[in-house]
This record gives sequence, structure tokens and C-alpha cells, in this order.
Amino acid sequence: MTKAIFLDRDGTLIYEKPGVYLSDPKQLRLYKSTKPALALLSKSGFKLFIVSNQSGIGRGYFTEKEVNAVHAHLKTLLKPARIEEIVFCPHAPDEHCACRKPLPKMGLDLIKKYHIDAAHSYMIGDKKADVEFGKALGCKTVLVTTANGKHHLQKYPALRPDKIATNLLNAAKFIVKDSL
Ligand SMILES: [Mg+2]
Ligand SMILES: [Zn+2]
Repeated sequence: MTKAIFLDRDGTLIYEKPGVYLSDPKQLRLYKSTKPALALLSKSGFKLFIVSNQSGIGRGYFTEKEVNAVHAHLKTLLKPARIEEIVFCPHAPDEHCACRKPLPKMGLDLIKKYHIDAAHSYMIGDKKADVEFGKALGCKTVLVTTANGKHHLQKYPALRPDKIATNLLNAAKFIVKDSL
């Protein structure tokens, strides 16, 4: 069975600017801790997946083609870490689709496709929806307090991630210890 890390994209792996929709690969900026974190997780035997809500497509701010170009560049920036697959929901919230986080569909599809052992896998993200998504999959969850994390912790006190980490590297360090 495969052990997986499901990673949120914006505000977790890369900087998220409020109100700015990322449509150009040149706008991509990794957090300083992103590459060391992914190296650590890969070394510990986890396969890496990115699971992202990209409602900007449904809202008409950018196209699916532009998102694919951003993702191709992101994969290059993240090397030597290997991302198995990047999946995203292109719908706006008011489309009430079946795939937008916190709904678990994107994760369930990956679990099936890659024979992932959810109980030994983790979801890392900076929003309530990420924690709920991970819990719905039966994974452990880490909330990073980059981007929206701090605010969501205050706003949703009932949110109980397994770990709160100040950045992705600290999330990875927790996971490596926790999974021993
Ligand atoms: Mg995010
Ligand atoms: Zn969707």
C-alpha cells in the first residue's frame, strides 16, 4: 500500500496573494520551506499529490489551460521532488459540484487509483476545507498557519487538525516522527 501526502497548493506550497488569481507561471513563488519539506517526506517513503480548488476557472478569471501551464512549471520548480499527480476542482462554489474541497472526491479518486492507505496518509493545508477534506478521507491532518491558517483557527475553534504547524517544513517534521 502507498503512503501519501495530499498537499494543498495556494498558501501551503506557494505564496497566495489575497485577491490575486494565479494565471501566469512567472507569478509562482515557493515558500522557503517547501523544497526541504518535500525532500524530507519523499525520503520517508511518501508519495506526493497536490489537491487544489481552482474556482478561478469557474469564475472566469483564468482558463484550465493556464492552470495546466502553471502546474507544469510548478512541477519543474519542485524538482528533484516528484509530484505523482496534481488534481484540481475547476468549479465555482455556486456550481455545487461533487469535487470541491472539503468534499472528498478528488482524494477518494487518488486513493483508488494509487492504492493509497488513507489511515497512514496525511493532508496538509492552510484552510478549514483542507482539514475537513483530510478527515473525510480518513487521513491525519496538518493545518499550516501560512496564508489563511491562523485566521481559520480563530474563526473555526471546533476545527481539530492533528497538528498545527507554522510552515510546511514543520508539518513534514511532525509527519516523519508521527509516522514512525
Ligand atoms: Mg490554500
Ligand atoms: Zn468541482
